Amino acid sequence: MLIVVGCAPVTKQPQITSAQAQKEAELQAEMAVRRIVAMNERANAIYHPIRKANAELCGDMARYTLGVPTQMLQTTTGSLRDAYARLYGVNERHPAVVAVVKGSNADRAGIRQGDVLWGLGGIEMRPGNLVAAINGPGPWKLDILRAGQPLQLEVGAEKVCGYPLSVSGIEAVNAYADGKEIVITAGMMRFVESDAELALVLSHEMAHNTMDHLGKQRGNEFVGVLIGAVIQGVVGGYGMTDLGAQAGRAAFGQEFEGEADYVGVYYAARAGYDVSNAAQLWRRMGVVHPASIHLEGSTHPSTAKRFMAIEETVKEIDGKRSRGEALVPDMKEEVGQ
Ligand SMILES: [Zn+2]
Repeated sequence: MLIVVGCAPVTKQPQITSAQAQKEAELQAEMAVRRIVAMNERANAIYHPIRKANAELCGDMARYTLGVPTQMLQTTTGSLRDAYARLYGVNERHPAVVAVVKGSNADRAGIRQGDVLWGLGGIEMRPGNLVAAINGPGPWKLDILRAGQPLQLEVGAEKVCGYPLSVSGIEAVNAYADGKEIVITAGMMRFVESDAELALVLSHEMAHNTMDHLGKQRGNEFVGVLIGAVIQGVVGGYGMTDLGAQAGRAAFGQEFEGEADYVGVYYAARAGYDVSNAAQLWRRMGVVHPASIHLEGSTHPSTAKRFMAIEETVKEIDGKRSRGEALVPDMKEEVGQ
């Protein structure tokens, strides 16, 4: 430690009033919200065709969606609440549209960011009821408040796999599935180099859910709240508890990862994405995050093995395409219980 006795220099710093600071804080909160919303828009635009193309493979988890992720003030993160309210009209009474999924029916019907979904067919909807009320293809008469003015739009719902997607703003390169929804991080969105790669990651996570890996895992010793990280070891310290990270590491065995890869490539292919370079994504993860993938006893298949298995899957899909067969993952024969 340095102790200066006598005439230590004192700087004359700019004086900022609290009103100025407040304005800057609001600006930054709005930037943060716009960043998250933009990532949500991109991820959901990629994900929507995947959910839709595979609805019939999702069995009783198929749902109907309008394609408008909405938000209520109650479920909005603390420091950003006001920014959501200012930018998109997020409030406590009705769901507000924070993003319209590109290519969805809502997009085609002209629903816009900031629209408040007041009700259905003239009946005011309570928060949460709207999603439950959309239980068929419709068309549904949506009562909207746009800039305070009432407006009615007719929107047909699309049948999709019932696992919503959200984006976490953290920088760790990760994605996970919890049996109900899937989450992708900002870090992962930057790690992928194309829409096709993003589609593969989302398809992989959706496959963890559709194949009920959490349910199957519950029979074992691990019960993870947070499960199925695509790659491991970079989770800690970003707002998830160590326990969560541990659960993420331990949750899925190699068999489940292999299955999510296999089924996931099918999901992406069925949605029309180019899967010819699917293996390249996992190979790059092995190169960029070798410790997390090559670890002895890791829950993830070794990169080399994973790479080759995915190559085989791509060949299998190409073969089915050229023979005009249905693009459906091969299932093992059930050998009784
Ligand atoms: Zn996985």
